[in-house]
Amino acid sequence: MHAVLADERIAVYEATLGRNAVKGAADEIFGRARASGDGSYDAIVRELIARLESLRHETLMPVINATGIIAHTNLGRAPLSEEALAAVAELSRGYSNLEYDLEVGERGSRYVRVSSVLNDVTGAEDSLVVNNCAAAVLLVLDTFAKGREVIVARSQLVEIGGGFRIPDVLERSGATLVEAGTTNRVYIEDFERALSPRTALLLRTHASNFRIEGFIHDATARELVALGRRAGVPVVEDLGSGALADLATYGVPHERTVQEALADGVGLVAFSGDKLLGGPQAGILVGHAHLIARMRSNPLLRAVRVDKMTLAALGATLRLYREGTWRERIPIYRMISATLDDLRVRARAYTARLPAATAIDSDGFIGGGALAQERIASVAVSIGADKPERLAKRLRASRPPIVARIDRNRLLLDLRTIAPQSDETVIAAVASLI
Ligand SMILES: *Cc1c(COP(=O)(O)O)cnc(C)c1O
Repeated sequence: MHAVLADERIAVYEATLGRNAVKGAADEIFGRARASGDGSYDAIVRELIARLESLRHETLMPVINATGIIAHTNLGRAPLSEEALAAVAELSRGYSNLEYDLEVGERGSRYVRVSSVLNDVTGAEDSLVVNNCAAAVLLVLDTFAKGREVIVARSQLVEIGGGFRIPDVLERSGATLVEAGTTNRVYIEDFERALSPRTALLLRTHASNFRIEGFIHDATARELVALGRRAGVPVVEDLGSGALADLATYGVPHERTVQEALADGVGLVAFSGDKLLGGPQAGILVGHAHLIARMRSNPLLRAVRVDKMTLAALGATLRLYREGTWRERIPIYRMISATLDDLRVRARAYTARLPAATAIDSDGFIGGGALAQERIASVAVSIGADKPERLAKRLRASRPPIVARIDRNRLLLDLRTIAPQSDETVIAAVASLI
């Protein structure tokens, strides 16, 4: 037993599964071997590895993202900054003033502190944070549009993925969808014609992961806001990725920012915390104080409320924007702002050590709902292999798992999403497999 647990092939599992789980699995395999009376050392190790592998797949663990997709939803979207991680650890280790007003010594609001930073960095009158952007949209519809009508452009009746479809969300919230315009051309007059005494909201959604090109027209946010004012109906915009900064400075197509939506006069803007904000999973609502106040008193808020870890991480992330250090401190912005020269220098370390590797120009992707298909120039290391799929599978099985991209029968390791401190690990893993 001692020898088996100390065997390098087994000991590596302790890092992800913990010593107790490894020992428990070993007990089980030894018990079985004793009962059946046949148990050579190698057979036991082999069986134990198979058992530990299946346990490993039930465990969340760190993965190296070599896909080049920065806010990769399947890989956990935005990695957190050191500041956000430290805030989570510090606030979760003991008690906190989560819902406690220290001045008066009574129950306080869970949301006031994060709202104050959010209002500072976005310029919004007021704000609210819930579990994710889907919940934020649901809360808006439930608060304002239940039993009433919501007008949406036909060009924006989208499915984001993961079951989030605008027409279905509207239906679930008890609102009636009223479609305006055609698939490719929507004018403000279409919205005007769709107005009725039962209209509760004018809703804009970010088309996120698809694009219509050619003979197109859309009603602008400003036109909607002007119409909404005349009709006494708020305009809500589901922005999705929620960039607070202009990405055009990084050579990525400009993405409408939260501040731009607010400047257009949009009443409520909804966005995610873990896409281009670079924080934890959360749904953020910013906008007019009287609209936010109505959502605060909706009982549904209790069901979609955020926990202290989210608030700690989100607060710390937002403070980086307030301090102006977000470019250097938030991991996704470090990835986005790495220059092609930076990446080429790192690629040379791969090609120098791996004979089968060549450095190539590639396309990374911003990823994460909105901007899913926006490309960002990148550099990848292409690994020559007869069966790239098989190499990809082996890389996924290495520790930590490495998720690569297959492109035109080549295995690509995109350097934009690999943290520079992981280069050595990736090089060693590839070297051991080819
Ligand atoms: C990503 C996205 C959502 C869903 O956000 P979650 O935070 O994952 O719930 C909703 N709307 C748009 C436009 C999105 O891009």
